[in-house]
Amino acid sequence: MPINHVAVVGGTHGNEPTGPYLLRLLAEKGIPASCSTFALDLVLANPKAYKQNVRFIDQDLNRSFLTADLSNHSLQHYEAKRAKEINQLLGPKGNAKTDLILDIHTSTASMGTTVILQSSSPLQMQLAAHVQSAIPGVFIYAISAETYTGGSDQPFLPSVAETGIGLEFGPIPNGILRHDLVNRSYAATLACLEFIEQTNRGSAPLPRQPVEYFEHVKTVPFPLDEEGRIDAIIHESLQDRDYTPLKPGDPIFVHRNGQVVHSTEDEILYPVFINEAAYYPQKAAFSLTRKRSTTL
Ligand SMILES: [Zn+2]
Repeated sequence: MPINHVAVVGGTHGNEPTGPYLLRLLAEKGIPASCSTFALDLVLANPKAYKQNVRFIDQDLNRSFLTADLSNHSLQHYEAKRAKEINQLLGPKGNAKTDLILDIHTSTASMGTTVILQSSSPLQMQLAAHVQSAIPGVFIYAISAETYTGGSDQPFLPSVAETGIGLEFGPIPNGILRHDLVNRSYAATLACLEFIEQTNRGSAPLPRQPVEYFEHVKTVPFPLDEEGRIDAIIHESLQDRDYTPLKPGDPIFVHRNGQVVHSTEDEILYPVFINEAAYYPQKAAFSLTRKRSTTL
């Protein structure tokens, strides 16, 4: 199946200005002339939150795309309305006119460049592997609906299209732009577009095999006190160690009295989104993934 319509989306989170800046770059520079087999839409997802430099106005837009919510007319807050507009523009989810969505994000965690997949379908995995071979140090993180919500639906914006990809760049504080990350986001986006073009022409090279990726296992909460306050912080030996092995018994948190909390997992797992600023309201400390590999 050719990929006829592609959308690059930025500013899904209003305090991540790298995406909106990338949209301006793409609009001004255009896409490479070699990309002629598909139409490209550039979409600023949450203009109101972007203007105010906040993650969202009423609710996280990137958790507003469950099929039931998109057809629930009683949901009328800003992001619920915006999700319905985007669903109309790029979707509708389940039968979308847009074949592939690239959603640009940044993280305060040391995630480097991460391609986030909604499934480990061959097309998604091949695209991610292509970005990995085009740009050194790219990680692939698969968050399927089953591992994230336990169901078959997903609340993420890219789930509007048959193929939805998140591109995550970090570490960077919220609200700022950095030359290196803008360059990285531009290069990664062009690598995705190049892959789409080659796929449409039937000439996409097979990636280096096997392809290594990280599969979402669970989110780990901070320890809380009786009043629900964060009671211990990320241990210094875990800080900034995204994608490095966390062994059973390794330190993860430290309390004010120095008491250390150790991992109680019974296998080596790989933490990501360690100490991510956006997850403090939910008191989420980091996520754990399992390292997998696949042959395409
Ligand atoms: Zn984001």
